[in-house]
Amino acid sequence: MSKVGEPDAPECAVTQDADCLAGGSGFIATHVLRVLLSRGYNVVTTVRSATKGDKILETYADYAKNKKLAYVIVGDIAKDGAFDEAVQSDPPFSYVIHTASPFPSSFNDPVKDVLEPAINGTTGILKAIQAHAPSVKRVVITSSFAAMTQDSTPPKIYDESSWNPITWDEALTSKTYRGSKTLAEKAAWDFVDTEKPAFDLSTICPPLVFGPVEQQLSNINSLNTSNQQILNILQGKHVHDTILLPAGSSIFTDVRDLALAHVRAIEVPEAGGKRFFVTAGHYSCKRIVDIIRASHPELASVLPKNLQEDLPADIYGYDNGRVKSTLGIEFRPLKECIDDTVASLLKLGV
Ligand code: NDP
Repeated sequence: MSKVGEPDAPECAVTQDADCLAGGSGFIATHVLRVLLSRGYNVVTTVRSATKGDKILETYADYAKNKKLAYVIVGDIAKDGAFDEAVQSDPPFSYVIHTASPFPSSFNDPVKDVLEPAINGTTGILKAIQAHAPSVKRVVITSSFAAMTQDSTPPKIYDESSWNPITWDEALTSKTYRGSKTLAEKAAWDFVDTEKPAFDLSTICPPLVFGPVEQQLSNINSLNTSNQQILNILQGKHVHDTILLPAGSSIFTDVRDLALAHVRAIEVPEAGGKRFFVTAGHYSCKRIVDIIRASHPELASVLPKNLQEDLPADIYGYDNGRVKSTLGIEFRPLKECIDDTVASLLKLGV
């Protein structure tokens, strides 16, 4: 691991009280980083390679020049001690936001590719903070609605008390991503219960996240998993479909509201010790397609013409009251979310 600010890149050191963001290259983390910087935080973000870190510094060149942004290279977060050096900072960190975890559209090995990075990455960063970063007051972890979903007997209303009952053995054979998020979040709460560290914990549970693509992409095929459904629609891959089921769940949130929720979770004292279910509401692919058709008549030839509404009338409900009242989040509607997502994809040449 090398640290920006050391002799090879002295101009990038963060000079004032710093906050740490883990996984700065991801779709959600990119938006969290923007919100942190715009609200005056000094940020050290973790990345897997100098190429990714340098791109982030290029995007925010003024912040990097003014020593408000730096990066640290952390390799595979599944490995023991991956975060041990990264959490040690001078000046020391006050907060850590851990977003890094695999959300792959496909994988080969459920343990190595998904479960270990999710679970070991989460427990690893908590252990590292406890051992090496006593200044940290709060850790915010990106969990997921995947950690709340109850497929066999869904509650009428999902809220922060909802937990996915999936086991390790079940996650090995199916619903691996859901298992990774559930077991990682459980491990985080268990760590806090057992170890009673100096910091407190908040977890953020979003369902499918759409929103403007701001992360650096090597090519359009490396688009984050949750925006891929919209990409596929724009690329005409569903032009002949009449049924198009949502990928994952039938509820969504806009990445910009989710990013603000992460940052509010470090700012609001009462957020400590709480889980937050960050959802704006239901969506369906038909609603998405209708929004695109109305905003972009020129795209009519690639859009499915006869898509049926698939959102069941008795779909489960959701209670997003805590995130509104405690974190003060107001949610963007689906239309704004989809219009801005599509605009960002068209700008990328899709
Ligand atoms: P991305 O794939 O865009 O980002 C994932 C991030 O995790 C990247 O920074 C990636 O680094 C890093 N990462 C993944 N595996 C490893 C590893 N083994 N070692 C080090 N870093 C790793 O996904 P999102 O931004 O969408 O997801 C971010 C978080 O939000 C995840 O925890 C995900 O589970 C959660 N989430 C996402 C939802 C969504 O709809 N997008 C919904 C609910 C939860 P690199 O760039 O180097 O690959």
